[in-house]
Amino acid sequence: MSEFLPQGIQNILPDLIQLLYLVAMSFFIIGIKRLGSPATARSGNQMASFGMLLGVIITLFDQQILTFEYIIGGVLLGGLIGAIAAKKVEMTAMPEMVAIFNGFGGGASALVAWGEFSRMDPTLFAGQDLVTIGLSILIGSITFTGSFIAFGKLKGFIGGGQIAFPGQNYFNLLLTFGTLGLVGWFTFDPTNMLAFWLIFGIALLLGVLTVLPIGGADMPVVISLLNSYSGIAASMAGFVINNNLLIISGALVGAAGLILTNIMCKAMNRTLGNVLFGAFGGDGGSGGGGAAVDHDKTVHETTPDDVALQTAYADKVIIVPGYGLAVAQAQHVLKEVADALEEKGVEVKYGIHPVAGRMPGHMNVLLAEADVPYDQLYDMDQINPEFKTTDVVLIIGANDVVNPAAKTESGSPIYGMPIMNVDEAKRTIVFKRSLSPGYAGIDNSLFYEDTNQMFFGDAKKSLQALSHSLDAV
Ligand code: NDP
Repeated sequence: MSEFLPQGIQNILPDLIQLLYLVAMSFFIIGIKRLGSPATARSGNQMASFGMLLGVIITLFDQQILTFEYIIGGVLLGGLIGAIAAKKVEMTAMPEMVAIFNGFGGGASALVAWGEFSRMDPTLFAGQDLVTIGLSILIGSITFTGSFIAFGKLKGFIGGGQIAFPGQNYFNLLLTFGTLGLVGWFTFDPTNMLAFWLIFGIALLLGVLTVLPIGGADMPVVISLLNSYSGIAASMAGFVINNNLLIISGALVGAAGLILTNIMCKAMNRTLGNVLFGAFGGDGGSGGGGAAVDHDKTVHETTPDDVALQTAYADKVIIVPGYGLAVAQAQHVLKEVADALEEKGVEVKYGIHPVAGRMPGHMNVLLAEADVPYDQLYDMDQINPEFKTTDVVLIIGANDVVNPAAKTESGSPIYGMPIMNVDEAKRTIVFKRSLSPGYAGIDNSLFYEDTNQMFFGDAKKSLQALSHSLDAV
């Protein structure tokens, strides 16, 4: 496409392209920085998207590009599919969508490396180019099949529980080292296509075999890790085609995915090794039963009118949302309830646990969708000291993130996980359908506390009833 430009610009084009790539990268970096707060996240997303558009446009002028029609067609088609997918996806299905995007990202990187390799005589590649081609195909292919298995598990197409054969972890380890050895072989003898195809084939198999044994409920962590892999594969592909933008943006995705994986593991008090090789949360669902619910203990049930009275006459109410809020799509009616309370002079705040829901930021996005003001959203560390001075805490479809067992029961699977200290408040009211456990599959002692009341039912219907009762107070 550069042939359409004046000769003067054509002469400086290579430098100009690198400079504009740098500008695009700055948009990525500032965009990511802005994603750190709900107040700036939207504009951060837009900035990063603009950086990507700029990157594509600059690539069009790269002298290497001969058929820009394909790029324009790809941008239009991809943009259309992306826009439809983003509009239609349910908030609870976000991890599935991210899984698919990661899978395609990894697959694309593998294809770029393959395309570049087939473009030239293999003996003309330098050693480091062949290493990056091999690694790009290896990591990209693992990401591709691994992400689709993760998607299948989340969607329920593939059983959520562990699917493994004895010694599978060792077998996977053997395959991993085997393919790394193949990358070495391929580097020394690039004319040998057997090594090339073996890397491709084994990596595709490895993606399936590493994700298949992991319980469905751990998939969000795996998806975050695969996101990181897709970034690393893209970065490798950037080295293959000598494209700085791809190298840096891939590295950003790789690092961001790793940081996110780390945050999720920390917030669940688990190690990555335990997620990848341990059995936990196998059913992949919520409220799936299976855990020991102590039927000898009693809970105090409450009614909409009672909750309306308690909250309307409170000074301060804190709302703690969880996965059930997303399932019930109750964010809008929750906002109505909060508005009604504020009209009655009650101070309302929202406390967000880092892993409430099924992916980080899940609750923030849901509440933002319902126009909850950002300054009412508090992180766990900010809100925890406030529970002592709070009259009523409304826990909407949250379970594990408010379970005191994390602080008191050393044998509990969630022992050590930081939780919301709701048990320190004068009154807690839990909105859920039953006494069934949440993701971690364990009973919650909070339900049986004297200061706690259970408001049984679907969160949306319960909140609608509460909203109605508040009108009458
Ligand atoms: P939980 O899964 O612990 O609990 C959710 C509760 O919501 C269930 O007990 C269920 O109870 C209730 N629920 C489901 N549907 C409805 C409905 N329609 N109306 C009302 N209630 C409903 O969720 P939390 O948000 O408290 O905790 C998140 C868990 O997920 C943590 O264990 C965390 O480690 C894990 N996790 C989070 C990740 C993240 O990044 N956010 C990633 C991976 C895991 P009932 O069936 O009785 O209604």
